[in-house]
Amino acid sequence: MKVLPIRRRAKLTVGRIEHERLVSLVNSMADGVIAVDRNLKIVVYNGAALNVLDLNSTIQGKSLVSVFHPISQHNYPVDVEQYVKNVKASKIDRDLRLKYTDGSFVNLFISVTPVYRGFAKGGQDGYVLVVRDISKEKSLEEERDEFISVISHELRTPIAIAEGNISNAQFVADKTADITEVKKSLAQAHDQVLFLSAMVNDLSMLSRAERGKLTVDIEQINIKDLINSLISDYRPQAESKSLLLTADIGDDVNSLNSSKLYVHEILQNFITNALKYTHEGSITVRADIKDKGMLFQVTDTGIGISHGDQEKLFHKFFRSEDYRTRSTGGTGLGLYVTKKLASLLHAEITVESKLNHGSTFSIYIPNTN
Ligand code: ADP
Repeated sequence: MKVLPIRRRAKLTVGRIEHERLVSLVNSMADGVIAVDRNLKIVVYNGAALNVLDLNSTIQGKSLVSVFHPISQHNYPVDVEQYVKNVKASKIDRDLRLKYTDGSFVNLFISVTPVYRGFAKGGQDGYVLVVRDISKEKSLEEERDEFISVISHELRTPIAIAEGNISNAQFVADKTADITEVKKSLAQAHDQVLFLSAMVNDLSMLSRAERGKLTVDIEQINIKDLINSLISDYRPQAESKSLLLTADIGDDVNSLNSSKLYVHEILQNFITNALKYTHEGSITVRADIKDKGMLFQVTDTGIGISHGDQEKLFHKFFRSEDYRTRSTGGTGLGLYVTKKLASLLHAEITVESKLNHGSTFSIYIPNTN
């Protein structure tokens, strides 16, 4: 064995310790780090980088171009060599994606920084890439943009109708003082304002649900009272469409321990949907004791829901493409909020529906002790 002079040994040990420190520092980073030399050969990388690239074997010494295949938002492959070598100072990109072998996509954050050894003297020595999967942030951004566009679109129509009716009422009052016409316009404006207020309620419930700020206050709910009050609230609306709205409450039905506010909100959503999507026939609200809780069902003889749509009913913003759905106002948030509330109550929702025949929305709510 070759014996090194003590100073040299000490120097090597210090070098090795520093190297190990660097490696463990890079390895403990949550972001993927890949350092390449000037020819884009990988010299240092960490486990997080392998995760982002979806690789499970070593990439040491490989060419970056052979293991990293980002694509643009429009699915065009990116020329990695040009992309990296064109970076003169530092570059950050949030618009590229990676396609994994299972066909899924991830959105990437990439930063590329040239590394200069000894700065101007030593010249350029390579690049450091930091990569991170930002799919979640991206989808939140997209969701937020979609949310703003849907909401502003949905708000615009009732506001325009209400404004039109109020200005018509003013005009008629000024010119002819025809009180019947004025009343008609005001009633139409009032309807739109009610719709707007219902929508704002949905939105505020949604925002509290999304921020996890909903608290569940359990109380003993008198089920007959709850259902009868819902029926009397919505009977005028049903009658205006010549629909029969009735309650069918099991004889032994008494009370349920749960959140009155949420049970009311959930049933109200089912009933208002049944009213919106039924043009003739009836709507029945049932309550029966089941296991350790209560089974509620709202059955309508309305337009029904296709099998394909049934799978998407509880997605945020989902509204059927059916022209009969599109001819009524709605945000596609009601059932999404309903599902959130149901999960707070450990309740289970099921839907049975046949296109052009009608639907039954059922929810089993267990007693909370
Ligand atoms: P909105 O009614 O505001 O569109 P919801 O989230 O309450 O939003 O409902 C989502 C979609 O589910 C509706 O747009 C409609 O296509 C469908 N839907 C819900 N309830 C019924 C029903 N009783 N009959 C037919 N379609 C329904």
